[in-house]
This record gives sequence, structure tokens and C-alpha cells, in this order.
Amino acid sequence: MQYDKCGLTRRRALLGGAVACLGAAGGWAWTQDSTGGASGAASSHRALGGASSSSGRLHGAAASGRLGRRPAHASAGRPYSYRTRPYTGVPRGTVGRSGARLPTSVRQGAHLRLGGEDKRIALTFDDGPHPVHTPAVLDVLRRHGVKATFFVVGQCAQEYPHLVKKIAADGHLVGNHSWSHPQLDKLSVQRVEEELGGTSRLLYRLLGAPPSLARAPYGAWDRASLRICARLGMEPVGWSVDTTDWSRPGAATIRSRVISGADAGAIVLSHDGGGNRSQSVQALEHYLPRLLEMGYVITPVRVGD
Ligand SMILES: [Zn+2]
Repeated sequence: MQYDKCGLTRRRALLGGAVACLGAAGGWAWTQDSTGGASGAASSHRALGGASSSSGRLHGAAASGRLGRRPAHASAGRPYSYRTRPYTGVPRGTVGRSGARLPTSVRQGAHLRLGGEDKRIALTFDDGPHPVHTPAVLDVLRRHGVKATFFVVGQCAQEYPHLVKKIAADGHLVGNHSWSHPQLDKLSVQRVEEELGGTSRLLYRLLGAPPSLARAPYGAWDRASLRICARLGMEPVGWSVDTTDWSRPGAATIRSRVISGADAGAIVLSHDGGGNRSQSVQALEHYLPRLLEMGYVITPVRVGD
């Protein structure tokens, strides 16, 4: 299966160079040591991001073999300039004077469900923004007055910054889904810092605040990436309902997976990028009003409340 992402192939050299620059910019978010989030040391076992992953299956490209190697990042490219931008519009209480989000506690695994007891469900969309499918998803959500969470890929966000701003302007949450969608537990610590840190910096530049949530591609968290996630002030988020919409099983199948998997506190995984997501959009058109009829309140992801 081809994994289109956001035109990755033709831009690989340029973006790779940009990622390389992120390493040198690492001080942005890591001036505070990980001891700031040391409560609850991560266990040594591999922490997984989603319910389906915990049963041994990885969602998306890892399962289908569509995952390409991470882009080479040794070539020259444009350096990021936003490191020196003034820090404005950053919410108080969660972001330090440097503009970085304050560290959170290191988790032993991703949050797989929403906190609280009420009948809430979160719809999450990964791998965007995509120039066709993201606006389509936004349109459906807007028509129903529903707010969701988008875990964006940094290089797609860089390619379509107006869509990132549009997502946020519509009232949705924007989370970090790495820079180039690699399997984080296969990378060095430095590369994970580049993947997560670079995306947080870009989102900070675009939205005025760094993201508070992160989702590892394929749900493949490990101890090191969870520690880096905490250092960047983000909570790791998985899912409890996997639509496996990436495999294009048909809109009816995607819809039935959401409806049958829905329960209070569920986090639904779907995709607005990474390939042709027309089935995902078509399914959303049907399951979203059905969830509302069933009495669910659809909310952006909030954990620990
Ligand atoms: Zn993904």
C-alpha cells in the first residue's frame, strides 16, 4: 500500500534537512531536565499507544508494510527560523518563559480512554493535515457542532499550515503525531527528540502554544519516547476503538466499528491523512449523527480530569 502522507517523496530532501536542524535546536524544549516529570517512572516493558496494539497488532503502516524508512536527514535544508520568534499568545500555567510547555509526569503508557464517568467520546484523526480530506472532515464536524482532536504529522503541518490553523480556529485540539511518522521505538533518543520536539515547535509557531497531547505513530511508545513526551509537556494518547480505516475496508465497516465499539470514555482512532480517506469521511457522515442520537457527548481528548 502506498503511503502518500503529504507528498513526502518529492520533498524528502528538503524536509529531511529541516529535521536535521531540529537537533541543533533541541534546547528549546529540554532546558528543564526530565527530573521535572519523574513521578511514576516508566516501566521497562514496551508501552503501547492503543487498545489494538496491546493485543499485538500495530495499526496503520506497520501492520501493512507501508511504512517507509524514515527520511534521510543529513542533507542541507532551510533552518527553522521560528526559534527566535517572540513568545506571544502562550497560555499561562502550562508553558514556561521559554515558550516550552512545562514537563508533565512520565507515563507508563498512553492514555487509552478519557477520564471521568460521563458519556463522552473523543473522535481523533491522525496523519493529516491533508488538502482534500482534512477540510472534508472539518466540514462534517462543523455541521454537527462537534469538536475533535487532530494528531498532525509535522511535515504535513509544515506543508499545509493554513489547515493546521483552520483546525484550531474551528475549535478542535491539535496534537503531535511526530515529524515524519516513524516508529519511535526504533529510533535513537536524539531522533525521537527531533521528531516530537520539531513538531511541537512548529505547532507552537503556527498556533501560539505548543501541543499538550501526543500520539506515537502506530501507538509504538517505549520508555524513552514516553520520557521525551513528558519532557515536552505532553500527555501520550492512544485509543480504545480502532476503525482500521487506513486499510479502506469500506465506509459501512468503518461505521459499524465505531458504533459497536462506542462506550463512555472511548477514544476513536481514524485518519484524515496518510492516503485516500474518502471512506473515513463517508463513514463519519453516518456514525457521527448516530453517536449523538445514542446520547454521547463528543469532546476533544482530555485526560486526567
Ligand atoms: Zn499515524
